Amino acid sequence: MNSASHYDVAIIGAGMSGLAAGIRLAHFGKRVCIFERHNAVGGLNSFYSLAGRKYDVGLHAMTNYVRPGVKGTPLTKLLRQLRIERDEFALCEQKQSRVAFGPRGEVSLRFTNDFAVLESEVARQFPKQADGFRTLVAAVKTYDDVSLDAVPVSAREVVRRHITDPLLEDMIFCPVMYYGSAQEHDMEFGQFVIMFKALYLEGFARPLEGVRLILRVLLEKYRAAGGERRMKCGVQKIVTREGRATALLLDSGDEITADHVISSIGAPETAALTDSSLVTRHSSPPAPGRLSFVETITVLSTQPSDLGWGDDTIVFFNDSPRFDYAQPEGQVDIRSGVICFPNNFAYPAGEALDDGFLRVTCMANYDRWANLPEETYQADKARWFAEVQRSARRFLPAVADDTLAKATVTTDMFTPRTITKFTGHLQGAIYGAPVKNRQGRTALPNLYLCGTDQGFLGIVGAMLSGISMANYHILQKQG
Ligand SMILES: Cc1cc2nc3c(=O)[nH]c(=O)nc-3n(C[C@H](O)[C@H](O)[C@H](O)COP(=O)(O)OP(=O)(O)OC[C@H]3O[C@@H](n4cnc5c(N)ncnc54)[C@H](O)[C@@H]3O)c2cc1C
Repeated sequence: MNSASHYDVAIIGAGMSGLAAGIRLAHFGKRVCIFERHNAVGGLNSFYSLAGRKYDVGLHAMTNYVRPGVKGTPLTKLLRQLRIERDEFALCEQKQSRVAFGPRGEVSLRFTNDFAVLESEVARQFPKQADGFRTLVAAVKTYDDVSLDAVPVSAREVVRRHITDPLLEDMIFCPVMYYGSAQEHDMEFGQFVIMFKALYLEGFARPLEGVRLILRVLLEKYRAAGGERRMKCGVQKIVTREGRATALLLDSGDEITADHVISSIGAPETAALTDSSLVTRHSSPPAPGRLSFVETITVLSTQPSDLGWGDDTIVFFNDSPRFDYAQPEGQVDIRSGVICFPNNFAYPAGEALDDGFLRVTCMANYDRWANLPEETYQADKARWFAEVQRSARRFLPAVADDTLAKATVTTDMFTPRTITKFTGHLQGAIYGAPVKNRQGRTALPNLYLCGTDQGFLGIVGAMLSGISMANYHILQKQG
């Protein structure tokens, strides 16, 4: 064995979960290397440059924000476990967000990082539901959402025991699903609890510099702890021998060996790198998720509030009688979506993003985008860009078309095809497979899953997943 290419732990993927697992293991003296197919870290949460401008991918807001001094929450746990001072992330709180339902957002629930705001909004808009909302919140607070052995229960069923108005039920579910459900129509109650706390009981924040700052901090910690990474170095095969993962065959044709392998790329994607039955512990490989998205990005010459769009940070909208969280039949479902204004966080006095941004995310169907000829693909993108933006603007204060046109510097859009191309996630499924593998175990005793398909979603969830899988499978076992 060549010791230069042997590691205690090899990690596949330099997204948030792979980086967090790497930092944790390197801190404890493990010889660890992260293998990433792309030239940039961050995976689903990265950034790219186009015509000299940097765009964030993924990050609307970091969830789970709590103020300094609040202990025992996911954010404080991840900062402690990764030895990050909270000032290093330079998090700035959201101004305010809304859930807006009805053809023009006639029913609206405002929420901020102060949960009392949402409670009073529910009491004002749905007075008969206020008591049920209180008991739901109590049930959420007492549920053990970190158990790795919890029996799956339908969140819709549990919520309906407390909330009897379908409109309020859907309004509660809309943000929770958009920001963290791999399942259509319903979700597992444990996942609902995690997301309810992350969005409503805790809250949204981001650094002025966006995801680039978070990634830079993670990379510095990893490097300082002695972690190695190989970029533009994909893994094409997990080599198995006598029931163990023994080596990784890289895209370059080189082979490296490792005692343990952690894969952050998803369960079906990992299965595709090896004999799938070995990975899943079942006879057939796990099905990839069906939920994918498009996102439109409009770069503005002015702050969105100067155009008249107010101070909303995130707006979750739906125009239909029921909120339908499912893969659309057509290319895009513009009935509902998420509007994000990254400008509307409480940045330090005198500081602001140089450009204005309007980002809109809607559900999309991977198959309807995947195999289009280039010309049709570009034409469809242009058509849907206009449709998505038109739909979202119904939920914002009116701004004249020519005013918006004059203020628009440039635009971009990603589709399910972009997601698969840049992250390898099958079907463009951002939230991965609907059935999660909380233990992160596979049939190979030294191959583990972390990240999206282990079960915790979003940036904070992904980092916690990497930490907990490194702790549970490697560090704790070795005392
Ligand atoms: C549009 C969008 C908006 C989002 N908004 C938010 C938000 O506002 N807040 C929030 O908290 N979360 C948000 N998320 C979700 C969040 O980005 C993800 O949940 C999280 O980043 C997942 O991290 P991960 O490490 O599990 O997986 P990934 O980020 O997918 O990391 C896997 C990595 O593995 C690499 N890889 C794949 N195959 C191979 C291979 N064979 N060999 C080597 N490398 C490989 C990929 O390139 C990738 O870098 C959003 C996501 C998207 C796409």
